[in-house]
Amino acid sequence: MKQTSDTSKTKKNTQYVFNFGSQTDGNAKMRELLGGKGANLAEMAAIGLPVPPGFTISTEVCTYFYAHERSYPKTLSRDVKNAINLVEKQMKREFGSRDNPLLVSVRSGARDSMPGMMDTILNLGLNDETVEGLSNISGNPRFAWDCYRRFIQMYGDVVMGVQAANEESEDPFHALLDDLKKSLGKELDNELTADELKQLVERYKLLISKQTGKSFPQDVYEQLWGAVGAVFGSWKNDRAILYRQQYGIPAEWGTAVNVQAMVFGNAGDDSGTGVAFTRDPATGEKVFYGEYLTNAQGEDVVAGVRTPKAIAAMAQELPKNFADLEKVRARLEKHFKDMQDFEFTIENGRLFILQTRNGKRTGLAAIRIAVEMNKEKLIDQKTALLKIPAESVDTLLVPVFDEKAQKAAQLICKGLPAGPGAATGRIAFTAAQAEVEARKGNKVILCRSETSPDDLKGMLHSQGILTTRGGVSSHAALVARQLGKVCVCGAGDITINYEKKTLTANGIVLKEGDYISINGTTGSVYKGLIESADSEVKRVLEGTLKPSQSYTYELFQTVMDWSDKYRRLRIRTNADTPAMAQQAVAFGAEGIGLCRTEHMFFEGSRIDDMRQMILAVDGVQRREALKKLLPMQKKDFVGLFKAMAGRPVTIRLLDPPLHEFLPQDDAVRRQLADKLGLPLEFVIDRIKALHEENPMLGCRGCRLGILYPEITEMQVQAIFEAVAEISTGKNAIEVHPEIMIPLVGFKAELADQLSIVRRVADEVMKKKGIKIKYMVGTMVEVPRAAITADEIAEHAEFFSFGTNDLTQTTLGLSRDDMGMFYDEYQQKEIYSKNPFASLDKTGVGKLMQFAVANGLKTRKDLKLGICGEHAGDPDSIDFCHNLGLNYVSCSPPRVPIARLAAAQAALRSA
Ligand code: PEP
Ligand code: MG
Repeated sequence: MKQTSDTSKTKKNTQYVFNFGSQTDGNAKMRELLGGKGANLAEMAAIGLPVPPGFTISTEVCTYFYAHERSYPKTLSRDVKNAINLVEKQMKREFGSRDNPLLVSVRSGARDSMPGMMDTILNLGLNDETVEGLSNISGNPRFAWDCYRRFIQMYGDVVMGVQAANEESEDPFHALLDDLKKSLGKELDNELTADELKQLVERYKLLISKQTGKSFPQDVYEQLWGAVGAVFGSWKNDRAILYRQQYGIPAEWGTAVNVQAMVFGNAGDDSGTGVAFTRDPATGEKVFYGEYLTNAQGEDVVAGVRTPKAIAAMAQELPKNFADLEKVRARLEKHFKDMQDFEFTIENGRLFILQTRNGKRTGLAAIRIAVEMNKEKLIDQKTALLKIPAESVDTLLVPVFDEKAQKAAQLICKGLPAGPGAATGRIAFTAAQAEVEARKGNKVILCRSETSPDDLKGMLHSQGILTTRGGVSSHAALVARQLGKVCVCGAGDITINYEKKTLTANGIVLKEGDYISINGTTGSVYKGLIESADSEVKRVLEGTLKPSQSYTYELFQTVMDWSDKYRRLRIRTNADTPAMAQQAVAFGAEGIGLCRTEHMFFEGSRIDDMRQMILAVDGVQRREALKKLLPMQKKDFVGLFKAMAGRPVTIRLLDPPLHEFLPQDDAVRRQLADKLGLPLEFVIDRIKALHEENPMLGCRGCRLGILYPEITEMQVQAIFEAVAEISTGKNAIEVHPEIMIPLVGFKAELADQLSIVRRVADEVMKKKGIKIKYMVGTMVEVPRAAITADEIAEHAEFFSFGTNDLTQTTLGLSRDDMGMFYDEYQQKEIYSKNPFASLDKTGVGKLMQFAVANGLKTRKDLKLGICGEHAGDPDSIDFCHNLGLNYVSCSPPRVPIARLAAAQAALRSA
């Protein structure tokens, strides 16, 4: 163990080591310090559940470790020794003893669980002598040698780095094991005798010294510190970093290390080990769910090497243990008030619980469990809402397979349904290939015999995951569920040949790149591509399915009703067409927060009229073109107002980066010239003249209306004429339009446009003989607008934060050009999240705070909203709630997520 003599930064009397067992120092609330696993072990020990004793080295040691060149606080060695002594007393065994050895497991445990991402070592404490002791006390030499070979294998891999050279080559320890079995004509691991395992141990040790130049350590404390260092070190391995990126876990948190007395599920046929969920983590149904293996250790279940049995089978095979386990299941849920995912081991008939945590679950399960636990009176509505990750609502809205297409498709085989939903894509046999295909824009199904944490990146890039081995709590299933990926696992009829790059099942051979479809709700695997269809919830919302026919819809509606009860933020949507608006209203949008009027001109021949307007050389020509655009705009606004039925609608005046509208292609330029009756050279010259080096920072936003006031005039005229049209007659709708000026940085810009708006509005109202209530406001999307918010608010009745541009301009980072360096930034954890997806609270957020505070100083009733992409991101919504905004405006499919996220923000801040 490397130790530092510099203790100046070590806090005096800091407790770094926390026991659990006969003496328990921690509890479930101490996740920050003890990690989730350590905190829950302490809690379980405290409430009297049968937990093997042990101790947790705190996350503060991890922080220290990285701050001090991977060394430890001075007192740690002594504290760990004392803690080991305490475990020795409880187990009546001795660490390193020849006669009666204590063995321990060493596992990671961060504040939020990161399953499989960091390292674990089991059976630590075995060496050439203690293995004999274990053999004597267990009376089972085969078992002792099996433990020893497993330990060397894990230690060699995790601590000493003896691993497969690449994804496609075999693990060198597995290769030795397979060679031995082959030479002995044996098929299964458990057919090997003690003497044969002894041979294997020798081969393993040789492999290690050959590959590392060091021998496998015999000193048990050296083993322990090697393992502790490897676990702390694994906090910064690639897959842990990637996982943290995915889930927004800060690098500063660090992991704790749990050292716990080993109990043995591989001590004979009255022993076993398993993983169980108190409810089904795929569907949320209240059934005991899980699997186990007799005469096995934990990694056999999780690694998916042997396909385990369903937990229900235990009722027959080990009835007493099963009854005990049912009791533990009920106790855990009642105590932790959440679905638990727990590991257990039975050693010679005695049940031990090794860990428990809130179980990872699919979006559907998260919702069902929360709603049903509320029905069962285990939790109240507020707690239930906080337990549903807001993003998970999405899983109820995503497509399923079209029923007819699925029936017509060729079924290859069935596996275990492990992550619900429907996925179609090209077959990729390696994580790297999945990434390559995905980067080409193709949908991918990652097909592997089993997955390991190294496949995480490939899984992220895939639509779905298919494995041929392993059960519903195998790594593939666990991670897929958490990522919200469709997953079918343990499809045993399939054989994958990595070398030939083929997948064979029941006479059907598919190659890498062929299409395959998997249904993670039923476990079915199909050849080819299957069309998808709308989800049940969507069908109910669109009126093609009765609400009473869908339990999923009932769950969705319950959560939405609760959310609406507790949220303070209003939820609006960004919509430019009546169809989008209708969809958003069905999802619960309460208004439009952003109608991008330029988007109304993308379709059909309209774009050419728009181009004519842009190419005009003077006001006369421009007015000609605008005349054509006016009736279209007016018709669109009528449609939009009707779809919104009196709900507020914010219309943003034209903000087209010109390059998005002008044709770059010669053929299209020629067509345009022909259509407009203009010489081709003229069109080319005008496009040249309008060329901008930085169109995103060029003639955009209000600059356009300032340069060409007739554009603003036309748009305002269209808005007010549309309002006038629908506010009279039999089906009159009262509309109070909100007109929004984009990209303002100076109050004079706003004043300029405002005067046009007021003048044209007055003209239309006079002509139509009606009064229309309306508001004029601005986007706050450049830093100068935020900094001079007090001045801008003199003219603006509302602010809407355009955080897409505000992020672009604050970070000095083009919205379209971050691909080149983004991967590297992620890898180095410079951005904890993509700043265009989740608000940069400390940078952009500060500007927003400043703008809100100063805007309100000028105008007390200033209305505040956000309409950048961030408005659909739960974390950013939380920030907006705390900022005191009145509404968030997101794209239609994100509306349900935003409703829930807004409620959660309100509950968290209450
Ligand atoms: C923004 O900048 O955040 C915004 C909503 O406007 P746009 O994306 O249209 O530039
Ligand atoms: Mg913008």
